[in-house]
Amino acid sequence: MVRSGRRRWETARVSSPTTTTVPVTGPAATAWPDLPAAQQPEWPDAAALAQVHAELASYPPLVFAGEADQLRAQLAQAARGEAFLLQGGDCAETFAGATADGIRRRVKTMLQMSAVLTYGGGLPVIKVGRMAGQFSKPRSSNLETRGDVTLPAYRGDAVNDFSFTAEGRTPDPQRLLRAYHTASATLNLIRAFTTGGYADLRKVHEWNRGFAATTANARYDALAKDVDKAMRFMAACGADFDALRTVQFFASHEALLLDYERPLTRTLDEEPPLSGPTSADVRQGGPYDTSAHMIWIGERTRQLDGAHVDFAARVRNPIGVKLGPKTSVADALALADRIDPFNEPGRLTFISRMGAGVIREALPALVAGVRDSGRVVTWVCDPMHGNTITSQSGYKTRRFDDVVEEVRGFFEVHATLGTVPGGLHVELTGDDVTECLGGAFDIDDAGLATRYESLCDPRLNHQQSLELAFLAAEMLQQ
Ligand code: PEP
Ligand code: MN
Repeated sequence: MVRSGRRRWETARVSSPTTTTVPVTGPAATAWPDLPAAQQPEWPDAAALAQVHAELASYPPLVFAGEADQLRAQLAQAARGEAFLLQGGDCAETFAGATADGIRRRVKTMLQMSAVLTYGGGLPVIKVGRMAGQFSKPRSSNLETRGDVTLPAYRGDAVNDFSFTAEGRTPDPQRLLRAYHTASATLNLIRAFTTGGYADLRKVHEWNRGFAATTANARYDALAKDVDKAMRFMAACGADFDALRTVQFFASHEALLLDYERPLTRTLDEEPPLSGPTSADVRQGGPYDTSAHMIWIGERTRQLDGAHVDFAARVRNPIGVKLGPKTSVADALALADRIDPFNEPGRLTFISRMGAGVIREALPALVAGVRDSGRVVTWVCDPMHGNTITSQSGYKTRRFDDVVEEVRGFFEVHATLGTVPGGLHVELTGDDVTECLGGAFDIDDAGLATRYESLCDPRLNHQQSLELAFLAAEMLQQ
């Protein structure tokens, strides 16, 4: 579709729900080109959507450009093997799940995993939540059928409701505003937690409190004792603990809904982003997607000529791109050319999600091809999305052993090539859910029904998350 000049307010056009030309509205987004955008909702009311764009565009940024720059610098360290990324959280955050307890438990789980990885792996861990914005989901089908009723698929709380009614499943743009406010409250709590003393490494024991006594927790307690001992030793030597008092905790989500991301995209002087990635001003400070520090593009929306890649190429945030097992070297290099034309370390993170049985065959050529091109990217392993199965009882699940096996394959591939395993990207929660099979509690098919709460993909529970961290720490040491 050809745009006829730049209009400040443009009415929404609603077409096919899978490939929609996303309209451009809002003061900060007047210059986006019309490109096919996969996986967009079919908003029913164009005028209501335009109003929501305007409102979002008037809201304060959720994160600051300087923080995104800091994360980019840290991801550059991860690309060099001087740090390790831990990116984790729900598959789909929900509005109802944004409670103080729920958020605290997720943050504590990430802090615990980081302590395990830092202590065991000897590297600083960059903590990035799939939090404060992970409210929308790509779907394999636009529709869901239950019995003889067919309704639009659930696309995440920012779009529609999980309840299987015609009203619930109708996309409602007001939900974009609620997503912003929920993200804002979530970030506020995360910031209070991680800078208010709670994340002080001297409280490493306390992060274990409130979780059920499990073997992984017992192992964690033992590790926490060792950390305590090391800290007391350092204190006795007169070490300065300022650096340990607070931690940086970044927020990330899939930049799927352009109706959310674009109005929250700002240049530092709040001017519309007028230029593409080759212009000087993009290199020097704008625009930033202020909805999160890091955003990623999913396996289903990374078309080179699509709106998502174009969006990612224009903003200055660190960008992740998911790469499935069919990705060719040419695909990866073309993505890198578009998104990271200046080959800036930390700018581009490739998140491979191959499957435990495939990673050893599919990943080496990709990593070698990218390396041989002279590009610096941060390689991260998502051991979840290539390992999704349906259990006999009908649950969407994953085997903990497959998750571990993919991580093992990831480390092996990089060890063989002499390249750097830069981090892990995991779907997890701090709760004792029963969504993934196996782990020390050996959750079996019948056990899945006990506490299956995810509205989308199955997450590692608290115990399984800690177990994975211990295993990954061992792999990091080798
Ligand atoms: C996800 O991260 O929840 C997801 C949908 O991943 P992918 O794009 O890799 O399928
Ligand atoms: Mn998922």
